[in-house]
Amino acid sequence: MAPRSPPPTARALFVDRDGTLNPDLHYLKEAERVELYRGVGPAIRLAHQCGHLVVCVTNQSGIERGFYSAEDVAAIHARINERLRPFGTRIDAFYYCPHAPESRCACRKPGTLLFERAAADLGIAFAESAIVGDRPLDIEAGRRLGLLTALVVPPGHEELLAAEVEREGTRPDITASRFGLAVARILARG
Ligand SMILES: [Mg+2]
Ligand SMILES: [Zn+2]
Repeated sequence: MAPRSPPPTARALFVDRDGTLNPDLHYLKEAERVELYRGVGPAIRLAHQCGHLVVCVTNQSGIERGFYSAEDVAAIHARINERLRPFGTRIDAFYYCPHAPESRCACRKPGTLLFERAAADLGIAFAESAIVGDRPLDIEAGRRLGLLTALVVPPGHEELLAAEVEREGTRPDITASRFGLAVARILARG
């Protein structure tokens, strides 16, 4: 008989990377160019204070396309945590898909494999967890897993994104104009 493991109980705030934590510079290779959006540091610190792990799940097809390497991605993730250090906080874990969409892997969002891997590694309960992202595919992944979903919609992008969300049937539970507001609304739901 297989040993029975305890049920997962950790709460996680899953966060997308490009366009959510940092401006999306499209196939960004150089870690020194990474800047976080204003308000990201305090919001991540607050999520920790409220008992959440903060886990970044990101599609990085630029690896398979040959635009940058796994080492470049690791350096960018180290840089993000360096940027968070002045706020006394950090991303607890990063998971990335290195594949191009044509590879039809299970890990590229809206695939859920990376989330499932994180949950197994960290004991995360999806029903107690949430996701913040800037694309319908982030919301779709979250919905498949039963996460509370929040979409960051920058001012001026409302109509475009609303049409996309409508088309893809990926209506989020929460929309907010900035990452910090999205996190505040998630945490306010208890
Ligand atoms: Mg994004
Ligand atoms: Zn993949």
